[in-house]
Amino acid sequence: MADFGQDLQKYRRQMDTGFRNLSFPPDMEAEYTSQYLARNIAKQRTALWVAAILMLLLIPFDINVLSGKPEDFYTLLRVVIMLPLLAVSYACTYIPLFQKRFQTLAFGMVLFFGLSTNLCVAYANKLGQQLPYEGLILVIFMGFLLAGMGFRLSLTCASLLFLSYALLAIFYMPPHTMLMHELIFIFGSCLVGGAAAYTLEYQSRLGFLQKGALRSAAKIDPLTNLLNRGAINHQLEIIMDHAFREKRFITMVLLDVDYFKRYNDTYGHVQGDACLVDVAKALSKGCRRSLDFAGRYGGEEFILVWFDTKPEEMARLSDLISSNIRQLSIIHEKSKVSEHITLSGGMVTGIPSETLTSSVFVQKADDILYESKNRGRNRILCYTFPGD
Ligand code: GH3
Ligand code: MG
Ligand code: MG
Repeated sequence: MADFGQDLQKYRRQMDTGFRNLSFPPDMEAEYTSQYLARNIAKQRTALWVAAILMLLLIPFDINVLSGKPEDFYTLLRVVIMLPLLAVSYACTYIPLFQKRFQTLAFGMVLFFGLSTNLCVAYANKLGQQLPYEGLILVIFMGFLLAGMGFRLSLTCASLLFLSYALLAIFYMPPHTMLMHELIFIFGSCLVGGAAAYTLEYQSRLGFLQKGALRSAAKIDPLTNLLNRGAINHQLEIIMDHAFREKRFITMVLLDVDYFKRYNDTYGHVQGDACLVDVAKALSKGCRRSLDFAGRYGGEEFILVWFDTKPEEMARLSDLISSNIRQLSIIHEKSKVSEHITLSGGMVTGIPSETLTSSVFVQKADDILYESKNRGRNRILCYTFPGD
């Protein structure tokens, strides 16, 4: 049975526990990752466009400023390797197989672009030509904010880039006076970008939990935790469609608590509420498979639906309901039919068709429920729709 009540608790519990280390339990993490990936594809495409535009802008500028070997090295790197790589990555964002691995791909791309930038700067410096190191800061920020990597991955990437620049500056480039400043600025960009990426991911995870909680809350009845009327209709359509396509039986029962007004009048509304909660729990025990469901149809009326149950099973199902309710043994002194709480019900079964729709099922179950009441309550009457 789809348990939206439990889902709601799951999201709320996680919000209470917190997630400072930016991770959820495995099941929820998988759910978050799949949603996160879907949202990130657009962001990653933007990142690729931004990278391509910057690269195209830089090519004539580099050719103009630099002369000799660095120019050739750059043109080779940018035109022959980087731009085609961006184009291929862009195409990959449309291929599902790569979409799933795009975090790793983004990691590789940012690392490659950052390392290439570092190499270019180092090489130009070696040849005595000034090339701004700030390009690396741009790459680091792209990694944190646009490439669609999680916080941890983007921090690893930025740290590796910082480290590689520091190593090149110390062991390869000729000594220069602003080296410490450069390193502090690059390190600072890792800190600032990292803090921003952490905050963004925290907010994104919080939004995921809030949306999940809202989605579940919108489907459940707050008193009984069973499906509410809207969710019943939705779930019913899904299961009817399924049964229609596969030519399977659907069994539905509408149940109403007997003399419940008297119960409220005798014991008060608070105890009346508690009674409905217990009844709901007992009823939901009766449908456990994934497509079956229990809902609160309204007031003290409930609905249970089972997928793929044969007409012969109706007796067993109605016995199960009656025995679960009997086991509750909720005293009801003012009931005319028993000293305990009892239910009346109308159970119907049939294979959905163009004419045998969900509303026909509900209408018939309601008619039979009415008949159960007329025949003295505390009973579930059954009806099988004739086949074609
Ligand atoms: P019958 O056997 O014919 O079904 O009699 P009944 O008294 O159960 O039926 P009736 O429709 O007259 O009364 C239903 C009562 O259910 C009236 C209403 O106050 C009560 N009820 C509906 N929703 C709630 C609820 O959420 N909490 C409580 N405590 N009572 C509710
Ligand atoms: Mg009623
Ligand atoms: Mg009633």
